[in-house]
Amino acid sequence: MRKLQGVRLAADGEAAERALDGLGPDASGLSRRDLAGLLSGRRGRLKTTLTDQSVLAGLGNLLADEICWRARINPLRTARDLDDAELTALHRAMRRVLRESVKAGRVPPRDTWLTGARDEPEAACPRCGTTLSSRRVSGRRTVWCRTCQPG
Ligand SMILES: [Zn+2]
Repeated sequence: MRKLQGVRLAADGEAAERALDGLGPDASGLSRRDLAGLLSGRRGRLKTTLTDQSVLAGLGNLLADEICWRARINPLRTARDLDDAELTALHRAMRRVLRESVKAGRVPPRDTWLTGARDEPEAACPRCGTTLSSRRVSGRRTVWCRTCQPG
């Protein structure tokens, strides 16, 4: 069973700062340059790095998979190995997916999104129709399209 940490209530700004200590910057406010800086030197997989709250805060399992799918980058890639074009695509996808998800109050399970397809039996990529691939990464089910996101 997966355990979430919980919700904390801070009495004042100082207590809030302490509660946030150890978290990376908020993903929704990251510039492309910030994102490139956070990923550079990271030897872990992209998926693991994106969902590590001490690196950047705010991306959960569905968001990370959706962002990688939209950017056409395989989530099993090594984080530091992305080239400039991939970093740009990843940043653009992150901004769009976060903006739409905040507006919807969740990661919207739309037909045109990975999130809308990933839990279907024999799920297919909404973009190209390839059967989706999945495996566990850091304990979480990770879903991607081997055609749109070649390794
Ligand atoms: Zn595809």
